[in-house]
Amino acid sequence: MRSFITTAIPYVNDSPHIGHIYEFIIADIFARYKRLKGDEVFFQSGTDENGIKMVKSAEERGKNVKDFVDEKYKEFYELKEKFNLSLDKFIRTTSEEHKIGVYKFWDLCKDDIYLGNYNGYYCISCESYYEESEAPDLICPVHKKKLEKFEERNYFFKLTKYLDEVKKLIEEDKIKIYPNEKKIEILNIIREGKIKDLSISRDIKRSKGWGIPVKNDNSQVIYVWFDALLNYLTGLGFGSKDESLFEKFWNKGTVYHFIGKDIVKFHAIYFPAMLLSAKIKVPENIIVHYHITIEGEKISKTLGNVISAEDFLSKYPYEAVRFYLAHQPIFNDWDFSWNHFNEVYEGILKKDLANLILRIFGILKRINYEEIDLTKSYLKNELNEIFENYKEKMDNFEFNIAYSRGLELLRKINQLIDHKRIWESKNLEDLSSLIEALLLILRIYEPLIPETVGKVKNELEIKDNIFINKKITFAPFYK
Ligand SMILES: [Zn+2]
Repeated sequence: MRSFITTAIPYVNDSPHIGHIYEFIIADIFARYKRLKGDEVFFQSGTDENGIKMVKSAEERGKNVKDFVDEKYKEFYELKEKFNLSLDKFIRTTSEEHKIGVYKFWDLCKDDIYLGNYNGYYCISCESYYEESEAPDLICPVHKKKLEKFEERNYFFKLTKYLDEVKKLIEEDKIKIYPNEKKIEILNIIREGKIKDLSISRDIKRSKGWGIPVKNDNSQVIYVWFDALLNYLTGLGFGSKDESLFEKFWNKGTVYHFIGKDIVKFHAIYFPAMLLSAKIKVPENIIVHYHITIEGEKISKTLGNVISAEDFLSKYPYEAVRFYLAHQPIFNDWDFSWNHFNEVYEGILKKDLANLILRIFGILKRINYEEIDLTKSYLKNELNEIFENYKEKMDNFEFNIAYSRGLELLRKINQLIDHKRIWESKNLEDLSSLIEALLLILRIYEPLIPETVGKVKNELEIKDNIFINKKITFAPFYK
């Protein structure tokens, strides 16, 4: 199996916060889970750097747009190192490789692109036009800011031509949207019949020259959403001299887009329509995660409750952040609090998981067997059932439920040790079962805390179902 796994590319008009970190980490957990299953995986993210909003954000800070974008890109790219993200590619939409692919794509769609006049209301924060009916009092429904009236000549994409086909693909789950609630929402938007052709360029003066110019028409730049969505293709080398990754992972692989719930329309309607026009395969899976509130409030700069990477990393190991975020519900809004974070870190990661591993190591250190036959385990069926159950939840992206199975396993093993007094009995079948349970624990938790699990695995040697008890030297961790 081949999997192409992506996050949405964050718009770099501000610094990364917990919302971005969450999406990056859950997508990384899924990528690592897939690799452990033996899949060939390409995991990609990047930064969305075009658009009029970028020019405005730079101006507000008295900065040159290019310098501002470079500075913010760096902050996002550094998350890779900080949270141990197993990214294979990080694409920037101001790069040459991206531009080449965007031009190729535009040409493939050119029969569906026409020049027209746009006369309407625009929200710069959304980078989107609104109909009067969609925005009462001409106030943006998302940003609560007054819309600006624009009249200009733009290129349009014949979105309406593909709506029936997109609808059918979603209905038949050929494009599968998780959770089902979001699938229904999108189908309702299409059925309402209000979607019009999409304006896909902007006046170059209004965007102050920032953006990808339309080929052969230097009065226009390409609409930021139209170019941004194409990162999923250009990151794989689409349009370059070597399209082998694109061929391998897009055309012959299964696509998984992880996105937030505010941008479903772009991914589930616009992008598939664009791909149909270009005669390129549509993505198979769109996984829509919900939003985070902070101590009951919406994340907002004005409220000053934005949580950055440093807020976490100055107090906790990075794996604690990965661990905590995986335990939150993906398909519901959830509330972050430092108390809760600390409870999960102290209570589950340190107490339930790390202590159990140390406890098992303590037992193995004190036994005199040089070899333990793992076929003597009496937990085989039980462990297998837990693992199957865990995989089913992971395959449905319900990471928090999958990890509640993990927690059950940890507690069960602790009970088993107590009940059988394994540290005294030193019974071979008990030890065999214990080591098997430990291996499953490592397998389940590796996507969350890969560095620690790697260290633990280094202490273990197993050959043909025989555990070789060399001296374990492993020291306590997560102090
Ligand atoms: Zn808006």
